[in-house]
Amino acid sequence: MLSVEPGFVPGFSSAKKIFSKIFVETESLCIFAKQNNNIMKNTINHNGIEVIKLNSIRSAKYDDNVERHGEHSNTCFICGKPTGSHWFVHFTTRGFLIPADIDETELEFRNLESQGCFPIGSECAKKVGKQFLIEFK
Ligand SMILES: [Zn+2]
Repeated sequence: MLSVEPGFVPGFSSAKKIFSKIFVETESLCIFAKQNNNIMKNTINHNGIEVIKLNSIRSAKYDDNVERHGEHSNTCFICGKPTGSHWFVHFTTRGFLIPADIDETELEFRNLESQGCFPIGSECAKKVGKQFLIEFK
């Protein structure tokens, strides 16, 4: 597994070469389909795309967990606990998580600015839905 620092931006630079495919359905992740109804409640429309406000899904225990475990390159962006997951979410300056397939051009077109990608644990990944997950192996 390649190591990735929080805040890297896939597809924007040399990272594109090593950036693996956008998350593809696998058997182990069928659970996402079941939770799709809950996921859609979290999304809002911003300039024509579905986004998720971080403050609508970030755990109330995030700060406590970061304080307890420290803030590291593998700290889950949603709950603040350390994670061994290789999934990331793409975060923007407006406080939105954006779908994984949004590239630099579209980001600008939608009037958004990237803050980079951050780790998300497998449990918290269930809250966002596969279209928001970036897999980095
Ligand atoms: Zn988490």
